[in-house]
Amino acid sequence: VEVPEAADADARQRWTELAETLDAAQFAYYVRDAPTISDAEYDALLRELEALEASHPDLRVPESPTQRVGGTYSTDFATVEHRQQMMSLDDVFSLEELREWAARVHAEAGRTDVAMTCELKIDGLAVNLLYEDGRLVRAATRGDGRTGEDVTLNVRTIGTIPQQLAGTDHPASIEIRGEVFFPVAAFAELNESLVAAGKAPFANPRNSAAGSLRQKDPRVTASRALDMIAHGVGAVDWAGRPRPETWRSQADLYDQLQAWGVPVSSHTRVVRSEADVEAMIAHYGEHRHAVEHEIDGIVIKVDDFALQRQMGSTSRAPRWAAAYKYPPEEVNTKLLDIRVQV
Ligand code: NAD
Repeated sequence: VEVPEAADADARQRWTELAETLDAAQFAYYVRDAPTISDAEYDALLRELEALEASHPDLRVPESPTQRVGGTYSTDFATVEHRQQMMSLDDVFSLEELREWAARVHAEAGRTDVAMTCELKIDGLAVNLLYEDGRLVRAATRGDGRTGEDVTLNVRTIGTIPQQLAGTDHPASIEIRGEVFFPVAAFAELNESLVAAGKAPFANPRNSAAGSLRQKDPRVTASRALDMIAHGVGAVDWAGRPRPETWRSQADLYDQLQAWGVPVSSHTRVVRSEADVEAMIAHYGEHRHAVEHEIDGIVIKVDDFALQRQMGSTSRAPRWAAAYKYPPEEVNTKLLDIRVQV
């Protein structure tokens, strides 16, 4: 977004307008599970705010929507502090921006032959599952990244999430992070049954997943066909226990999670060239509706944990990952006008 040379007062006024609009959109999206603007509109406004702050760095304050994860709003659920912060992802909207990100990775690594995982960006909501001695003891939403909502009882109704990890080689405690989603086929059925019962349908599968997980009555959650796919870990405490030999990369991690019975994606690939990354982007750009859940992009992650640590994170996202976002599909704006179920 091109920001004209604005007098400071103009820049400030535009900053305030954008921040207020984004705040209101975040409230509708994260708290009410009922968006008022499309994701593409939201992304465009956020980009404009980022550009404005790039040309007026004094406007880049910690409370800016560009600097924080999710929203910081009170909800009906008890709050839970994550042991390790839950991050967002930095978006790229073109192959050119993706190549710039890859160039930074290559510069950091000192070579161009760097293994990366290519993963589907699941359009659901992030959860943090705390396992102690292999037992699921707590589940929380991402919230503002530091503090989330306690949704343990609701998460216990999701059949594919193990209450107890398989095997015996677990750490003393581990935060497993993943995406709760509504399978697309089940989403269509849910909306049909809501409409048949005279209730308002959900705007999209992402909102139906968030709305279904954030029910005060876990029996309602239990009646919904939610599923989960793990895509990372937070704090891990081995407490002196021997850690598996293979705990060196993102791909190792997924193998280990799978061995523990935690669902991981069958679509993830480990690649070593930009051509392969771009081939994956092109493939799922064509076939995004062949996948069982909604996707809004491809996530590319540095595979090697040591290089991940070396690259580190900003206040809101790791530098070792990028989310390539697909251009928006035709938006059915009518749907967004419907009073949406919460
Ligand atoms: P994000 O959705 O762009 O990306 C970060 C999230 O991706 C992570 O927290 C994780 O939960 C998820 N994810 C999915 N697959 C993953 C994988 N394979 N590996 C790692 N993470 C994966 O960022 P965000 O901060 O959650 O939300 C911002 C986005 O949400 C916006 O870009 C917009 O599209 C949408 N949004 C829309 C509105 C609206 O009003 N329409 C409001 C707020 C946010």
